[in-house]
Amino acid sequence: MKVLLVEDDELLGEGLQRALVREKLDVNWLRDGEAASADICNPVYDTVILDLGLPRVSGIEVLRHARENGCDVPVLILSAQNETDERVRALDSGADDYMTKPFELSELMARLRALFRRSRGKSDEVVRYGDIEINLSSQIASKNSNYVELSRREYVLLLELLTNVGRILTKKQLEEKIYGDAGDIGSNTIEVYIHHLRKKFGNDTITTVRGMGYLAPELD
Ligand code: CA
Repeated sequence: MKVLLVEDDELLGEGLQRALVREKLDVNWLRDGEAASADICNPVYDTVILDLGLPRVSGIEVLRHARENGCDVPVLILSAQNETDERVRALDSGADDYMTKPFELSELMARLRALFRRSRGKSDEVVRYGDIEINLSSQIASKNSNYVELSRREYVLLLELLTNVGRILTKKQLEEKIYGDAGDIGSNTIEVYIHHLRKKFGNDTITTVRGMGYLAPELD
């Protein structure tokens, strides 16, 4: 799961980034509203943690800009204010959740997971596909209830495919998911990861759609 963290407070941002990485999340940390506005609709992000009081462009404006541009990434607002008006304004502007500083990290993580699940139409912590299960909380994958060891990139790729069953995902979309904006991508690395996943979960798990991409086929 890739998270966009927008927070101008260095101490809080650093603490959050460390905590998110510890939870095996991939984090991009931006410190001002202008940069956040430019990046928030990037499809690599699964969730956004957005501070309201930001330099240059306020959090509310970043959020409105995103929603006006039709991007529906789940957004969790962090705010120093606990005014009802502020909370209502944020939710009315398209926020999915709202937390007031200071907060417990464990609660933030639980809310992030809930946002991610809701955005994927899942009501529990487990993604199931035939005899494959992915536990979103522990980030453990299994087949026939047997643990399957995955690298982080294999995990991200599998999760992306199994939460988009029946939809073709292009190689570029998958690359963005696993590499983000980092350059230097070998031309056949997605194929290599797909090959690993097929070996671990069975060839039928992932279908190649020639010239288009990959998909996890609908199960009967
Ligand atoms: Ca702030």
